[in-house]
Amino acid sequence: MGIDCDFEACGENAEEALKTAIDHARAIHRLKDISDKDRMRARAAVQDAFCVPKGGYNLGGGGL
Ligand SMILES: [Zn+2]
Repeated sequence: MGIDCDFEACGENAEEALKTAIDHARAIHRLKDISDKDRMRARAAVQDAFCVPKGGYNLGGGGL
């Protein structure tokens, strides 16, 4: 059971995209604890255009 969300995080670089995704998770899905493992998973999902695709990773056990 995940969170149904179409959010796709993009940034000027991989770090920006990742930061945007994490900010979104915290603000919208109220995830307080994002583990290093989750960060690494999200980082790995960042693609060439510096976007973290929807469904490309899970933070806190739910989709973004
Ligand atoms: Zn979301």
